[in-house]
Amino acid sequence: MHKVIIIGSGPGGHTAAIYAARANLSPVMIEGIVRGGVAGGQLMITTEVENYPGFPEGIKGPEMMELFKKQSERFGTKIISADVERVDFSKRPFKLYTDEQEYVAQTVIVATGARARWLDLPNEQKLQNHGVSACATCDGYFFRNMDVAVVGGGDTAMEEANYLAGLCKSVTVIHRRSELRASKIMAERALKNPKIKFVWDSAVADVHDVSQNKVNAITLENLKTGAKSKLAVEGLFIAIGHTPNTDLFQGQLELDENGYVKTKPGTTQTSVEGVFAAGDVQDHVYRQAVTAAGTGCMAAIEAERFLATHE
Ligand code: NDP
Repeated sequence: MHKVIIIGSGPGGHTAAIYAARANLSPVMIEGIVRGGVAGGQLMITTEVENYPGFPEGIKGPEMMELFKKQSERFGTKIISADVERVDFSKRPFKLYTDEQEYVAQTVIVATGARARWLDLPNEQKLQNHGVSACATCDGYFFRNMDVAVVGGGDTAMEEANYLAGLCKSVTVIHRRSELRASKIMAERALKNPKIKFVWDSAVADVHDVSQNKVNAITLENLKTGAKSKLAVEGLFIAIGHTPNTDLFQGQLELDENGYVKTKPGTTQTSVEGVFAAGDVQDHVYRQAVTAAGTGCMAAIEAERFLATHE
């Protein structure tokens, strides 16, 4: 029987682990081996992190996660390299199953994160972090006074386009239809911005140039006429949505219409008493390492208080 099990090993999970360990809760973290065996969440596929306070010179995403992990372990977090395959939150104590073992816990902190959706272009992954990004807040700064493109027609795409317009020379939004999905207010703001152009009914067919290890153009395809054209840009921001990693919790925790874990406003409490959620798995708005860490801290404090009142 464990007091706290944390599922996930991004900034949310590790911050929860540090706080839980320092509160003497001997946390166990099941770190996940998704993405071909790499734990650590989305920062593991990020090069420079320049917006996490405390690192004035910036730090590489994987290096940062190594430091998070060391700090969790320093205070006694037990880290298990496995994926949780199934959970039973129907009654306390909660049960979690990996392919090899069953774990029993009084409280659980869900920190499984979300993943950006990609277009699956031939060169997209090769140029990730070299001009292809899924986060304008994280990477926009590297494209100051440059021409960039944003793909998508939802609120995220509009928000990214508006943000980038404040930094870049020009922003071209590429949308596969002639109508935006974004809310009226966000769409209007983007449509009115003189720095933002729109290319309608079009898809990005590929991004170039792998031989230079940087983005210098994209190939566009007009989906109505089939005509192809090239657009010179130095950055390509994919903003076609995120998928929260919540398959595991279907039928166990209340999820919102986009699949994110629902939490009580201002807390990390889920629909099941004793189960808390931290980081991007419950946040489709901010999606930052520092906000994930903040909610990880909250989840550990709430778990500790829950245990104190229920023991
Ligand atoms: P959405 O699912 O709302 O939008 C995704 C967009 O990407 C759509 O325009 C969609 O096109 C397009 N798209 C999807 N797949 C592809 C593809 N393979 N190729 C090209 N285009 C594609 O996701 P968002 O991330 O924008 O928003 C998710 C939720 O979060 C929404 O509820 C949104 O309102 C909310 N949100 C709110 C914000 C705010 O209020 N500040 C900020 C950000 C998000 P199509 O329209 O044709 O389907």
